[in-house]
Formats: sequence, C-alpha cells, structure tokens
Amino acid sequence: MSDLATEREIDRSKMQVSDEIAIEISNMNKWFGAFHVLRDIDLTVYNGERIVIAGPSGSGKSTLIRCLNALEEHQQGRIVVDGTVLSNDLKNIDKIRSEVGMVFQHFNLFPHLTILENCTLAPIWVRKTPKREAEEIAMHFLEKVKIPEQADKYPGQLSGGQQQRVAIARSLCMKPRIMLFDEPTSALDPEMIKEVLDTMIELAEEGMTMLCVTHEMGFARQVANRVIFMDQGQIVEQNEPEEFFNNPRSERTKLFLSQIL
Ligand code: ADP
Ligand code: MG
Repeated sequence: MSDLATEREIDRSKMQVSDEIAIEISNMNKWFGAFHVLRDIDLTVYNGERIVIAGPSGSGKSTLIRCLNALEEHQQGRIVVDGTVLSNDLKNIDKIRSEVGMVFQHFNLFPHLTILENCTLAPIWVRKTPKREAEEIAMHFLEKVKIPEQADKYPGQLSGGQQQRVAIARSLCMKPRIMLFDEPTSALDPEMIKEVLDTMIELAEEGMTMLCVTHEMGFARQVANRVIFMDQGQIVEQNEPEEFFNNPRSERTKLFLSQIL
C-alpha cells in the first residue's frame, strides 16, 4: 500500500461536480452462469465526479466497471452512459465505447505496434481520423503523459509505468468523456506507481469524470469526491472520503479498512 507523496498541492479549481448525469445504473443485476456477481446495483455518477471503488478481491469491482462499456453484459436493469442506454441486448456499444475510456491493470498495449501506432489505431479505424491528424493528437497526449520521446519504440522497450501512461494517452486520443480505471497501478513496481497516479491526478484536475478501482487509499483521500465500498456484489456503503475513512458505517467496511490501512 503506497501513500501518495504529491510534490504539489492539487489544483481543485476545475474539479467541479456538475448536476448533469454521466452514468446512471438502476437496479442492475449480473450473473456468471448461476453465480450472482452483481446485486441490485444503483449508482448515479455526475459529470466531474472522481469516484474510487474499493472492496475485497472478488467483490465485483472489475465486473461492475466492465459492464459500463459493455465488456461484460448485464442481465437485468438499466445502464445509461452519457444519455445513451446500454440495453442488455448490447445495442449502442460503439457509441458508449467511444465516450468511455478504459485503463486496465495490465496495460493491454499491442506489442507489435509502436507507441505512436498504439495511440493512432482506434482514432484512424474507429473515428476515421486522417492519419496525420491522429498522429498530432497522439503526440499531444504523449506529451501530456510526459513520454513523447518514446513514440517510435515498442511497448516491450518501456517500463511498466511508461506503458501504463501510454495506455492512458491511448484512451485520451479517443477524447472520452468518462475514464474507467481498473487497478491501474497494481501491476507496477512501487517507484512507478507515483508517475501513473500523477497522470491520473492531472486528469482529475482538468475535470475528467473518473471511476477508479484502486487500492491506493492516498489517492482516494486526496482526489476522490466519493468512495464506494463493494462486497459480495453489492454496494455496501458510499461516502465522501473523509467520512468514509474516519467514520465507516458498516461492519464490513470497518473490517476492510482495518485490513488495508
Ligand atoms: P474484483 O474486481 O472485485 O476482484 P471481479 O469483478 O473480477 O472482482 O469478480 C467478481 C467475481 O466474479 C469473482 O468471484 C470472480 O471469480 C467472478 N468472475 C469474474 N469474471 C468471471 C467470468 N468471466 N466467469 C465467471 N466468473 C467470473
Ligand atoms: Mg478486479
């Protein structure tokens, strides 16, 4: 468990939560075969929110965020992302995926493509952006994550922290309105965790709507406006970070916090 050691104060001037809804999940249930993995999930996310999802391994955190861009299918209930209904027959997938970026624990870069090609692939083939323009956009975001000089290398030539920053840049090239992170620092050596968290903090400072599954409770305290605790497929408790950490309500949350803090 690493705590955040930010060298600078977080600029909160653009970190504003609006009253417009980014994601609305109502009465959502999901099964893997007979296993009821998500139970009666109700969650409304407003534009500009930075939500941290915490909970024990196997509690359904990844499955929940994977449902939000249709990497997993839900069987019951309703998910609306940025005004588009993600019905359980999986219509509207392309529209939602173009608005929701996702960053995984294991980067998932294409190993046979350069960093620049990783970043231009989807804009060129999905968005039909002209190649030159896609490359300009890619370089802009590679500069933003502070590795423009790696553009012509292959993923295997980069450190884990650098690869994860490429993965973030690659998502940003699609100009998403919402970013989902699934344990983006869990596979990284400690010295690389901070550079990835710094990138995430900068995104938050620009007002990006973010849902982050993470065990980085320092990040949760400093950046999140809301922490959600899941256990056994349910949202057990949610609160602003200060209350969540200092005054957890449920026994399950108390137990979890006593184990990780
Ligand atoms: P978390 O991210 O909180 O660790 P997951 O969402 O990955 O939890 O998994 C929740 C539960 O669903 C776990 O018990 C896991 O084993 C199970 N599970 C996840 N993916 C699948 C799958 N594709 N098929 C069957 N069971 C799965
Ligand atoms: Mg997971």
